[in-house]
Formats: sequence, structure tokens, C-alpha cells
Amino acid sequence: MRISEVACKSALTGEKGSYRLNPYVGCPHRCAYCYASYMSRWKGEGSWGTWVHVKVNVPEVLKKELSRPSFFGETSVFISTVCDPYQPLERRYRLTRRCLEVLSEAASSGMPLRVMVATKSDLALRDIDVFRTFPEGAFGLAFSITTHRDDVAAYVEHFAPRPSRRIEAARILKDAGVRVGFFICPVLPYVTERDLGGLLDIAGELKLDFLSFDRLNYLRGHVGGRAFQAYRSLGQEALRRLEQARDDPRYERRLKERILREAARRELTAECHF
Ligand code: SF4
Repeated sequence: MRISEVACKSALTGEKGSYRLNPYVGCPHRCAYCYASYMSRWKGEGSWGTWVHVKVNVPEVLKKELSRPSFFGETSVFISTVCDPYQPLERRYRLTRRCLEVLSEAASSGMPLRVMVATKSDLALRDIDVFRTFPEGAFGLAFSITTHRDDVAAYVEHFAPRPSRRIEAARILKDAGVRVGFFICPVLPYVTERDLGGLLDIAGELKLDFLSFDRLNYLRGHVGGRAFQAYRSLGQEALRRLEQARDDPRYERRLKERILREAARRELTAECHF
């Protein structure tokens, strides 16, 4: 893994009150369906998962940005889009934690902030104390999860913490009073789609606060090729079913209907981004 410490000029990207914050660029989890892998080309780096840029000054830059008069209205901050904010390097650098401390301080002093963190790592448990300093409703944490089965996840997100660890972490956070949900993104045709009922059962049992679903985007970045490679390792039937889902215009409508029906049956709040 090639680790580069960099000084960033800005912490928040986006506009009109909707921002993204990435304490790191790059991610060692190397999920087969990752939409952020295009960053390798963008940054002139090697293949996705072999490098990380560490924005060592991001908490200080964030603090300065939040003090600008332009930050006066409703503001949402999503952490993160081109990294996992609780990847292993976070143990050493603590940048996500320090950014959350800055955001919590701003929210507690009256700024109308809403912060959402998405991760695949139970390292998030380290920061329960910070999560709980946010005013009510201002903070949420989503575990990004595609299946509850560790054996299935090993094919498509081999280097990420196993789903069983994320589920246990979600349970602990819920018990600690933190707003927690699952981002089931993307639903992988045939491979994780088959287990959706099991994952929704767990979400229902945990009484999660929100669920968000997305489909596999075959076109974005390198995802098409990398996802197809993972499917190939699962055998011909998996590959055939993936191609069938991609080519069937009714597939996504049916999937969406099923998700909303099964979530409602378990009294869960779910939204589909497709
Ligand atoms: S954890 Fe997220 S950012 Fe990291 S490789 Fe997986 S999908 Fe990409």
C-alpha cells in the first residue's frame, strides 16, 4: 500500500448546502463494485486499493471553512464518497474523528448541520463518544452492506471487514442511542439479491432507523469490468444472471417493487435511488 500524506486546500466539496467530506482519497477495501475507483486515473495512481492519500490538515481546513459566512443555511455533510472514512489508516491518523469533533462543535453551537457517515468498518465504534455529542437528529451512521453472509461478501468485498462485524457494530451503536441504518448499495443481481430477505430480517430485528438501496451501475468508472470479473469467479450461472439483469429493462422495476414491499412488511423505512 502506497500512503502519501498531502495538505488539502479545501475540506468540503459540493454546493448549495450539500457537501461531501473525504479525509482520505483511496481505499484498501477494493470492493469489486466500487464507484470511486475512477480516482486512480484522476490522481495518476496505480490500481484502486493500492494507494491512499491522507489529508493530514483536513480538520483544520474544515474548521476554517465552517466559520465562513457562506455557511449559514441548512447544511448536510456526507462522509465519504472516495474512501472509507474508517479504513485501517484512521486508527493512526484519527482524521475522521477530528473532523466529526469539528462538525459536532458547529452543530452544537446552533449551525443547522446534518452529518451522515457511511462505512464498512466496525472501527466506527471507537467514536461513539463523538457521535453522541451531536444534537438530536443531526447525526447518522450507515453501514454499507450488500449481504449479511460473510461467505458471499468474500467474493465481492474481500478486503473489507466482514458483514457479521458490521451487523454487530450496528447493534452496539443502536443500543448506544446512535441513529443507524444500512446502505444496501449496490444490490448485486443474483449474488446478493437472493439474500435480501435475510438482510431485511436483520434490519428489522435491529429496528434500524433507515435503509437506502441502489442498483449496480454498469457504466460508472471501472465498475463494469471489475464487477464482471468478480462474477466470473462465481461461475457461469452467476455471470449469465448478471448479463440477464443488465439487459432486461423490467429487472430494476421489479427489484424496486420487491424491496419496498419487503421493507414495508417489516415496518422499515426504505428508499431506493433508482
Ligand atoms: S469501502 Fe467503499 S470506497 Fe472503499 S472500496 Fe469499498 S465501495 Fe469503494
